[in-house]
Formats: sequence, structure tokens, C-alpha cells
Amino acid sequence: MTHICERFDSLGFDNPERTYRLGIMGGTFDPIHIGHLACAEQIREKFGLDAIVFIPAGVPVYKKHLDITPAHHRFEMCRLACESNPFFDASSLEIDRAGDTYTVDTLRDLRAYYPENVELYFITGADAVFSIIKWRESSAIASLAHLIAATRPGYVVSDEQKADLLLHSDFSITYAEVTALAISSSDLRARVGEGKSLRYLVMQRVFDYIEREGLYQGVAHE
Ligand code: NAP
Repeated sequence: MTHICERFDSLGFDNPERTYRLGIMGGTFDPIHIGHLACAEQIREKFGLDAIVFIPAGVPVYKKHLDITPAHHRFEMCRLACESNPFFDASSLEIDRAGDTYTVDTLRDLRAYYPENVELYFITGADAVFSIIKWRESSAIASLAHLIAATRPGYVVSDEQKADLLLHSDFSITYAEVTALAISSSDLRARVGEGKSLRYLVMQRVFDYIEREGLYQGVAHE
């Protein structure tokens, strides 16, 4: 592999003496909204990450029966959303890879590309993380990256859920509550379908893109 994303291809290569922390925002991003961006920014600060790459899932394995927006649109929205933050970029890694999208393949690709002084932090929604024991090669995922689960306000991770994860694996998961995650992609799709505005809920460039491409028209509440 010769390329991950425009901004961070050289991360870690310049200074082998220093440890770098790369955040990986995994998600469907249909569409990417300010909740995702605020979440990434807060986690970047909290964990001292040097960069965060948003990687929209190509063919999300658990969503094959759903009507997902074509990957090139979801990637382009991520790219536009990241433009104004020098710590963020979007990668088409999962979109360019043929077949179903598995996180373990993505982490292996990143691990093979970046030198050892780059540590990987995989960030995604807590709901998704709770199903991680069912993901392909979940133990390998846990050994390749630190796992960060972003939660919405009021989301309670029960001791039972935590204990369940520990029973099934040796995953170490850090939870981060993010206020702005009260926004959800499914609500935004429904808003467009109902003729309501997405202004201020997505970045202006994403707002313009959704309008220009006519995305989410006719979407009903799921
Ligand atoms: P999802 O079920 O759509 O998301 C679960 C919840 O987390 C939703 O409320 C979602 O909010 C939120 N969320 C999703 N991504 C987030 C992020 N990066 N930061 C904060 N909140 C986020 O999950 P998904 O999008 O399908 O999958 C999430 C990631 O897990 C993807 O990278 C996917 O490839 C990976 N995954 C891998 C496997 C596997 O390897 N077998 C299986 C499942 C998922 P919004 O709807 O507002 O985004």
C-alpha cells in the first residue's frame, strides 16, 4: 500500500525516536455530522492524538440489508468535513478494498503501512463496540489498536455489559462521553426526508454537498 490519506501519509517516518498516536474514526458516516467531528476533536485532546483519520466503511457487514448511501458520497462528505481541521483527514482505504468491510483488515493495512512508532487508536460508537466480540478476528483487533468507545449523553454502560466483554475477551476499552453525539445520522436522514434543514448539524460544505447531490430525499423515519 502506498497511500492512506493526503495529510498523514508521512506520519511517524520523519522522526523514528518519537511515538505518534493516530486516531481512526470508524463508521458508516451516512452522513458525517458535527457530533462525529466534535467527538473526534474531544478524543484527540483527551488522548493526545497527533492525527485522526476518518475511514467510512465501504460495505458495512451488518448493514447489507439497509439502503446505505453509495460509498463515494460518504467518503466525499468526510473529506469535505475534515478540510478545515489540520488534525483530521479522510481515507478511502475501506472503500477501495474489494468486498465486505472488516475492521481487522483495515487495522492490518494501517499497521503494515505505518512504522512501529505510530500507535493506533480505533474510535467508534459504544453501540458498535458492544458487538465487537462478534466481529471477525476480534482478538486481533484488540491487539492491533487501543479501543475507544464514544457514548451519547445519558448512555449508561452497565457493569453487566462491561463484565460480559471482559468475560469474552481481554479487550481494553476506554469510554468517552461526548455531548454533541446527541445528533445521530439516522435522525439527520429522516430530517431531510421530512423537508427539514440540516444547517448547523453538519458542516456547511457537507450541507451544500447533500443539497447539490440531492441525498436523503424521500428517506422515511427508520
Ligand atoms: P453503527 O451501528 O451505525 O453505529 C453505532 C452507534 O455509534 C450509532 O449511534 C452511531 O451514530 C455511532 N457512531 C458510529 N461511528 C461513530 C464514531 N466514529 N464516533 C462516534 N459515534 C459513532 O456503527 P457502524 O457505523 O456500522 O460501524 C462502526 C465501525 O465499526 C465501522 O468502522 C465499522 O466498519 C466497524 N464494524 C466492524 C465490524 C467487523 O469488522 N466485523 C462489524 C461492525 C462494525 P451515527 O449513526 O450518528 O453515526
